[in-house]
Amino acid sequence: MSSLTIAIDGPGSSGKGTIAKLVARELGFQYIDTGAMYRSVALMAKRRGVAWDDAEALGALTRGLSFTFAFSGEQLTVHVDGEDVSGLIRTPEMGQGASDVSKHGPVRESLVAVQRGLGEMGGVVMDGRDIGTVVLPGAELKVFLDAALDERARRRHRELLDKGEDASYDAIRDALAARDHQDRTRAIAPLVPADDAVILDSTDLTIEGAAAVVLELARSRAPQAV
Ligand code: C5P
Repeated sequence: MSSLTIAIDGPGSSGKGTIAKLVARELGFQYIDTGAMYRSVALMAKRRGVAWDDAEALGALTRGLSFTFAFSGEQLTVHVDGEDVSGLIRTPEMGQGASDVSKHGPVRESLVAVQRGLGEMGGVVMDGRDIGTVVLPGAELKVFLDAALDERARRRHRELLDKGEDASYDAIRDALAARDHQDRTRAIAPLVPADDAVILDSTDLTIEGAAAVVLELARSRAPQAV
């Protein structure tokens, strides 16, 4: 099979997860959602009484976790130590928790090692913040997916309303802006495009349109592989 590796990075609600999933399905590749790993660390830390700023304890906790990803129909399920945490990690609280725990070196080192292991065989679409810069610097295709803050907030708002949750647009916009700022300015593996990444602004594109652009790029990079 193909050894092509695709890295998709970008800020929250830029559409990267949905696009990565569509691209992976189309190419028959595996999709790895690295944000789900950081969210899972935040969830497990909260349950076990480990503070989101305790770098050493978080590192020890992270090293003890095992992750598996599987598709159930269209839905990606994430199991941590055998438990399906897919729904529990998709909350604004765990989004912020993920951003807090992901600042710490011991957490990142442990998860980056797992992510490299998952990516090394190729045939993978991996999304996150540092995939093109740190996790898979040799990826054949790197995409930095961006979108205007207002559009990202609108997408996130719609997603929460669709799930039947009560959500204020302004609060969502403020939380997204704060999390982006934290991710872009942290000392370790900040959110920045890799030098060789293709910058794709999805503000005025549909999700399907953006996925089509990524597929086209993948086919032009390695026509024999895809
Ligand atoms: O992509 P998602 O919103 O699920 O990511 C949650 C948080 O996890 C991000 O805001 C970021 O702080 C962290 N993260 C990271 N590196 C990754 C993926 C996610 O630091 N590769």
